[in-house]
Amino acid sequence: MTTAAQAWSTPVTGSLGVRWNAGAPDCAATPQPPLQVQAYEPQTVILRQSPCADFEANFLYLLIGSDRALLIDTGAVADPDRMPLAKTVLDLLPSKDGAKLPLLIVHSHGHADHRAGDAQFASLPSVRIAPTELPDAQTFLGLGDWPNGVARIDLGGRSVEAIATPGHHPSHMSFYDGRTGLFFSGDFLLPGRLLIDDIDAYRDSALRAAEFLKARPVAHILGGHIELGLDGQAYPHGAQHHPRERPLQLSRQDLLALPAALDGFNGFYARHPTFILSNPVRDLLAIAAGVLVLLALSIYAVRGALRRRRQRAQATTR
Ligand SMILES: [Zn+2]
Ligand SMILES: [Zn+2]
Repeated sequence: MTTAAQAWSTPVTGSLGVRWNAGAPDCAATPQPPLQVQAYEPQTVILRQSPCADFEANFLYLLIGSDRALLIDTGAVADPDRMPLAKTVLDLLPSKDGAKLPLLIVHSHGHADHRAGDAQFASLPSVRIAPTELPDAQTFLGLGDWPNGVARIDLGGRSVEAIATPGHHPSHMSFYDGRTGLFFSGDFLLPGRLLIDDIDAYRDSALRAAEFLKARPVAHILGGHIELGLDGQAYPHGAQHHPRERPLQLSRQDLLALPAALDGFNGFYARHPTFILSNPVRDLLAIAAGVLVLLALSIYAVRGALRRRRQRAQATTR
C-alpha cells in the first residue's frame, strides 16, 4: 500500500540561479531586451518581460510535454514589435512528426497584464487560447464545481493540474506541474503586493491550495511578478527599475502563512516577510479621504487668515 505522498514521483529539479532583467532608471537611455528566456530545466521555460517593456514585468511559464505544450499567461504587451512573445515561444517548441507541438494557452486570471499577449497567438492554427473570464474559463478546463475541484491538463507524459484560487480576481486559477513540483500561483501569491478584491474568497483559496498541495511535493511556488527588493522594500507602483530584486520563488511555508495573514488583515495594508497584503480600492479611498481632510484644513486656514486681515483693515480705517 502506498500513501498519497508516495504516489508522487520525485520532481525533476531545475535552476533558478538567475539574475532577472532589472529594467533601468531611464529605459529610453538604456534599451533592454524585452524578454528574458530562462530554462528551469529543458522542458520548463520561464519567460520574464523586462520592466522597461512594461512596469508589470510579468513572468510567463512554458511547460513542454511530449504531445503538446502549455503556456501560462501571455503578459502585459500586445505589440509583437515591442514584445516578440509568440515568435519566441514558437521557436522554443520542439517539433514532432514534422510540425511544431500544438500549444495551449491558459491564464492565471483575466487582468490585462496576464493576457495582453493573446493577440499575437490568435491567428496561429496550432494554438488554442483558453478564455479568461467565468464561466467560460471554468467550463473550458472542466472546473464545473467552481471554486472546488481539480482540472487535469494532459501534455503527454506530463500532467498539469488547475485549481480555482479566486480572491485577487474572480477567475483566478493556479497550476501545479507534476513533473517539476512547481506551483504557478499568478497574482494569488507572489513576492510583492497581494491585491485583495474579495477577502473571503482569498482566504478560502489559500486554504484550498494548502489542502491541495498537502499530498504533493512542492519544489517552489512561482508567481506572476516580483515587487520586493532584497532589502524587503517594495518598488513604487509603476517602477521600471527593480534594483536588487529578491528571488522569484516562494515556498509552501509562505502559502501556509497566508490564511492567518488574511485573518489578521486590517483591510488596508499589512506587511509580511515575503508579501504585502493590500486593498487597492480602500488604499485609494484612504488617500482620497486624506486629500479631502487636507483640503478642508487649507480652506479653513485661508478663510481664517482672510477674516483676520479684514478685521485688521476695518480696525485701522475706524
Ligand atoms: Zn492581477
Ligand atoms: Zn498581474
